[in-house]
Amino acid sequence: MADILYTYKNQVYANITNRCDCSCTFCVRSLKDAVGDSETLWHKTEPTLEEIIKAIDAFDFTGYNELVFCGYGEPTCALDNLLASAAYVKEKYQLSIRLNTNGLGNLYHNRNIVPELARVIDSVSISLNAPTAEKYQAVTRPQFENAYPALLEFASLANASFGHTQLSIVDVLPADEIAACQKIADDRGIFLKIRKYS
Ligand code: SF4
Repeated sequence: MADILYTYKNQVYANITNRCDCSCTFCVRSLKDAVGDSETLWHKTEPTLEEIIKAIDAFDFTGYNELVFCGYGEPTCALDNLLASAAYVKEKYQLSIRLNTNGLGNLYHNRNIVPELARVIDSVSISLNAPTAEKYQAVTRPQFENAYPALLEFASLANASFGHTQLSIVDVLPADEIAACQKIADDRGIFLKIRKYS
């Protein structure tokens, strides 16, 4: 079994699934098998809810006030386990919950999952990655043809539902694309996080 909880740069992350509906050209999964203090983030089999809870209970959260559901995979692809484990952590450990997502959860589940997420998750970071649908398709290679508008709709729904919502890009994009992404975020009243590429 791979690491379910791991730490990286003073944050604790939950890696509850390796499933993902994208195949991003820059995905860290294609470069290395682990991040931070993890040994491997590749699960031999998908973690069960019981295994996730066991990993949570085995972790010492002293000094942490937030748990981030992240990779190696898209957390909303394991929606039931995401909702149940986030609720468990909030109730038992009183931690704030953040979701790092590709924003395609509504498309993947063919319904609006934002209200379910908002019951147990405090903040959400959505990977925007590109300023146009064409560029987005090329860089994230999603399973869906209409992924980009679905991502933007998810972001707007999230922004109305979560305490904090942000879109994110990396700083390797050309300046004109960064400006276009900023406008997309500004038009929707959503904070744009420009992350350093690492
Ligand atoms: S959405 Fe995330 S986990 Fe999935 S391929 Fe892209 S970077 Fe990797």
